[in-house]
Amino acid sequence: MRIAKVDAFHLRARLDRPFGFSQFSYSEREAMLVRLTSTDGRVGWGEAYGPAAVTAAIVREFLGPLVVGRDPRAVESVWDLLYARSIDYGRKGVMLAAISAIDIACWDLKAQDCGSPLYRLLGAEQQDRIECYWTGFYFGGDEPLQVRWEREARDCLDQGFRALKLKVGLGVERDVAIVRAMRGFVGPAVRVAIDANHAYGPQEAIQLARQVEDLGIHWFEEPVSPLAPEQYLQVKQNTRIPVAGGECEYTRFGFEKWFRLGALDYAQPDLCACGGITEGLKIASLATLTAVHVTPHAWGSAVGQAAALHFYAARPRHPSTTVPERKLIECDRSENPFREAIVEEPIRLAAGHWHLPKTSGLGVHVLPETFGPYLVA
Ligand SMILES: [Mg+2]
Repeated sequence: MRIAKVDAFHLRARLDRPFGFSQFSYSEREAMLVRLTSTDGRVGWGEAYGPAAVTAAIVREFLGPLVVGRDPRAVESVWDLLYARSIDYGRKGVMLAAISAIDIACWDLKAQDCGSPLYRLLGAEQQDRIECYWTGFYFGGDEPLQVRWEREARDCLDQGFRALKLKVGLGVERDVAIVRAMRGFVGPAVRVAIDANHAYGPQEAIQLARQVEDLGIHWFEEPVSPLAPEQYLQVKQNTRIPVAGGECEYTRFGFEKWFRLGALDYAQPDLCACGGITEGLKIASLATLTAVHVTPHAWGSAVGQAAALHFYAARPRHPSTTVPERKLIECDRSENPFREAIVEEPIRLAAGHWHLPKTSGLGVHVLPETFGPYLVA
């Protein structure tokens, strides 16, 4: 099997309800999907995180031609070729996101060729589902935040979720008030994480953490800038709340210093950014050396979500445990038509659990004929 053709699709959809977090706001969602067509007529799909016009151009103009004629099952060789060829001006950011998309598509083809769901090929036992947490509770809109968030929380609980993540980062006092109110609203049995999207410096982050740590917060995500792992350590040493981060980090080379410092309790590489499945596995192996749990950031289309789900299904829980239900994966509930509108059958979400696809490969059947209204020329 060889790669015969590489296509990059830039998709964009206007949102009915714009939303925001501490750093910026969205009025549209984008996706950059890569399709690899093999010489035996199979297709594999991958996705890149970040600005879609840029990653699409990287795939079309630079990386794509390099992989035509290569065996997509040779994931290490393909990855090494793309990384080595781009190392002078890549190593992080959009270049790695573009490599990630090609890598995920290669794994999709490889697993199809093995006739196996990807998570089984990655070494996991047969399983049905993984518990997920509801990512939502964004800012924006005219309604008072607490009214909207309580409605969203009711929806979240009604759908069977028992874990959720609240956005923070608009000021310590305001955050403390809303997090306290929401903990009171959902009750003590629901796992509640908070995510500042690196809005704070270490002093403010520590102030916030200390004022909510009695609420049993599951983790404090991106309290401070990803430029400064030392500041994550500072936060971690000054609160009982576990610290999470890593969605803005790339490759094992980037994550190594976080693990060496002991800056994280939960590492959150995004498979569509960090270097794909191939590199995600290496990051996860590094993380085991210091018993850091890897739970992927996932904010993409059905393709990116499937990649995260297969990857996570094949990871053991660290620190090691025989209690599988302690695993928890992200489930983005913000508006995104690309989770459902472009696939034959969306990944099944029921009672707060993602159900693992049973068909071979990534298990999402992408329908390019649905791209029309979203396609950016
Ligand atoms: Mg986050």
